[in-house]
Amino acid sequence: MIRIAIQNKGRLSDESTELLNHAGVFFDNAKRKYLVKSRSFPAEVLYLRDDDIPATVESGAAQLGIVGLNEVAESGADVKIVKRLGFGYCRLCLAIPKNEEYTGPEYFNGKRVATSYPKVLGRYFDRMGIKATIMFISGSVEITPSAGMADAIFDIVSSGGTLVSNGLKEVETVMESEAVLIANNELSAEDTELADELLARIESVAISRDKKYILMNIPTDRLQEAIKILPAMRSPTVIPLAAEGWCSLHSVVAAGELWEKVRLLKQIGAEGILVLNVDKIIL
Ligand code: ATP
Ligand code: MG
Repeated sequence: MIRIAIQNKGRLSDESTELLNHAGVFFDNAKRKYLVKSRSFPAEVLYLRDDDIPATVESGAAQLGIVGLNEVAESGADVKIVKRLGFGYCRLCLAIPKNEEYTGPEYFNGKRVATSYPKVLGRYFDRMGIKATIMFISGSVEITPSAGMADAIFDIVSSGGTLVSNGLKEVETVMESEAVLIANNELSAEDTELADELLARIESVAISRDKKYILMNIPTDRLQEAIKILPAMRSPTVIPLAAEGWCSLHSVVAAGELWEKVRLLKQIGAEGILVLNVDKIIL
C-alpha cells in the first residue's frame, strides 16, 4: 500500500483528485477524514495543507505527494521531483508600487520585501548580491505596500489581476511553478513498483490530454498526400470503403494543430471528417 499526500482544500485539490481518478485511483472524498483508502488501487490518500506535503514525503510518512514546485522549493525538503503535472501554473514574482521607477534588481537594496516565501527570496537575493530586509508574512502579502508595512512584495502570480488591483506592478520573475509529483528518496522495492505503475498511468493521461482522434473519408488517389498531413503514432489506419475509389483514414493529432490539418485535408478532398476525444494513450 502506497500513501499519496494531496492538498486538503485549495487550488490544487480538485485537479489532484481528478488526476488520480484518471489514473484509476478512486477514493471517497469524505469530508473531515484525513486518510482515505482507494477502492481501486493499493493506495491511500492523505489530505494535508500544501505547506506540509514536502516534509511529509521527505520523512516517508507519505511515499508520494502532489504539490506546487514553489512549496517544494520553499520547504527545502529533500525529495525526488518525479514529474511536472501540467496544472497549477503560477510564478513567484517581485512586485513594487506601480508609480515607482524600476531600474533592475539593485532596486531592492535596502528595501523591505514582504513574502510568504522567505527562503526562495533569500536565495535569489544572495545570488544577485542584494541586501534587502525580508519580512515573513503568511497571507495577504499584496496589501503590505499600501499599508506601509513593506516597500515591495514577493508573491505568487498567475494572471496578475491581484497585483494590479493593489496598485502594484510585476518587475522580476524569480521562479516558474506548476504542480509536481514528488516521491520519497528511499522507496522500498514494493513501493517503487506501485509508484512506477502510477507514474505510467499518469503519463498516459498526460499524453492523451491534448490529443484528438480524427477520421475521414478520402479519395484513394489522394491518400498519400493525406498521410503526409497526418503522421500517426506508427502509421495511420486506412480502411477501404464499399464505394469504389474511397477509403477511410484514422489518426491522432495534437489539439493545437487540429484546425490547420482539417483545412489542408479538405483541400485535398477529405469528407465526413469526425473528431473525437481521446481518453488514454498507452504507449
Ligand atoms: P493551504 O491551506 O493548503 O496551505 P494555500 O492557501 O497555501 O493552501 P492555495 O492558494 O490553495 O494555497 O494554492 C496552492 C498552490 O496552487 C500554490 O502553492 C501554487 O503552487 C498554486 N497556484 C496556482 N495559481 C495560483 C495563484 N494564482 N495563487 C496562488 N497559488 C496558485
Ligand atoms: Mg499553504
